[in-house]
Amino acid sequence: MPIDVEVCIIGAGAAGLKAAHTLLTKSDSLTQNDIIVVEAQDRVGGRLYTDRTSSKIGLHYDLGASWFHDCLSNVVFQHFYSGEGEGDKEIFDILSDGYFDDKPVKVFSSDEIAEIDMHKTNMETITNDIESFCELYFIDKLSTDEDITLKQLVELYIQKYSKILTEQEKKYAKVTMRYYELWHGVSWDRLSARYAVLDHNGRDLFNKKGYDFLINWLLQIGISRDRVLLNSPVSKIYRDASKLVGNRRHRKCAVEIRGSSELIYCDYLVVTVPQSILSLDHKVEPNYGIEWVPVLPASMQTALKNIHFGALGKVIFEFDSVWWNKNQDRFFILADENVATDGIETLTSLPKPFSFPALAINSSNIHKSDKGSLIILTQTPLTEYLESNPDQAWSYYGPMLARISSTPYSPPPAPINTITTKWTTNPYIRGSYVACYKGDDPTEIISQLSGEIDGMGLSSSTIRFAGEHTSFEGEGCVHGAWMSGMREAEWILKHSGRGEVTKKLDKWRL
Ligand SMILES: Cc1cc2nc3c(=O)[nH]c(=O)nc-3n(C[C@H](O)[C@H](O)[C@H](O)COP(=O)(O)OP(=O)(O)OC[C@H]3O[C@@H](n4cnc5c(N)ncnc54)[C@H](O)[C@@H]3O)c2cc1C
Repeated sequence: MPIDVEVCIIGAGAAGLKAAHTLLTKSDSLTQNDIIVVEAQDRVGGRLYTDRTSSKIGLHYDLGASWFHDCLSNVVFQHFYSGEGEGDKEIFDILSDGYFDDKPVKVFSSDEIAEIDMHKTNMETITNDIESFCELYFIDKLSTDEDITLKQLVELYIQKYSKILTEQEKKYAKVTMRYYELWHGVSWDRLSARYAVLDHNGRDLFNKKGYDFLINWLLQIGISRDRVLLNSPVSKIYRDASKLVGNRRHRKCAVEIRGSSELIYCDYLVVTVPQSILSLDHKVEPNYGIEWVPVLPASMQTALKNIHFGALGKVIFEFDSVWWNKNQDRFFILADENVATDGIETLTSLPKPFSFPALAINSSNIHKSDKGSLIILTQTPLTEYLESNPDQAWSYYGPMLARISSTPYSPPPAPINTITTKWTTNPYIRGSYVACYKGDDPTEIISQLSGEIDGMGLSSSTIRFAGEHTSFEGEGCVHGAWMSGMREAEWILKHSGRGEVTKKLDKWRL
């Protein structure tokens, strides 16, 4: 039997489940039976995934998002902070379930015995100076598309100010800006300098409870589990279903699930699959690409290709004890200068330690555990290599982590457990979130997919897009995905006359 619904949502991540929740709670007439969510994987949550089974020391780990970023403007954080709604503190208590892991970061390198003194080396001042240099460099180029990589920008800075920089300042200037690799999940020799340096609206709160709380909560108050079809990858979308046989109620569009002979007919479609999936050519990737009938307008296809997908990953090491400074929040281990991995697209063997910088999060401190737990953030191309070869992770990070040991240079104990993410090998995700390589344009995709400009007659089309990649605010983040799901649900309610919608999308409101 074909499925016939008013709204079909593709993807059961934060955006898709929030869209379903908004439709159900803000509509005066939509019911569970009017909505269906289709999800390719065998679980809900998408890039929110709390691993509660792999730890050998009784902890849990978010393998996708861990932080509430930009707390001052983060709608999800604001909701739980202001304790709106009954029982919200029980769902997530900011004070006991969150932790601001932002004590000054400790910095180490391969050639220093101990921690590097940020003040004596002037490292912080130089980093701030390069950030300002970056801003000024692009103010000068506002009217052009010209871009350079973050690495090239740093080289320009050093070249231009060589006379006033000490040798030590030059040395550290060459490597400290690589910190941004661990924000974007992209190595600095690819990263766009124009978009690398981020403005923040407030602090970042580490979610100790695990982000599955948000997904479980959404399922409790929104769409019921039996309206979420798991293991249902969408293979084809008919933008105009008027001529399809079987469309008894004359629905506007239709969706084909791979391997199923029946279509899902709907009037409104919300597509929340990641940009990495949307940009796949179904002829090249027949098992995972989505075919559009008719094809998406050229402007949209171009916008989808004018941005990349980063590959932030995580490697988690567990130990019997904590052998580093247990009160410290984070350790930044600098890469060596002039490493041979620059410009390499794909790693075919394990690079030498210190080829890429590492940011290690002291999860033992966050959870106040006596057992050792370090979460290391990884960037492309290292992420792909380690996610495919997790047994080599300690060979790469072991010598680097030896630096943070309370007794520097003494070899640290081998981990009792290693957990690595699998986002790059997951065919329905393929990385972490949108990221700008040199020359990319992040605004085009958002404008096209958020309905801001009329890519495919979006102001009237009943096919809508949501997801982290479609939101100016919180792009790449959970709250961006969340707001985009809400945005599209509100559009549908307004357009269909099915609900009372506040005049303007209020960013503080869930
Ligand atoms: C390692 C990592 C760390 C991160 N850290 C943070 C952080 O600390 N803070 C933060 O705010 N954000 C972070 N993020 C980003 C955050 O997780 C995402 O922005 C957010 O979860 C995206 O939600 P979404 O609904 O847009 O997409 P998703 O959660 O990816 O949902 C889309 C769904 O579509 C499904 N899908 C794909 N193809 C098909 C198909 N053909 N048919 C049907 N379904 C399909 C996918 O399986 C997926 O479930 C991180 C992400 C990663 C990977």
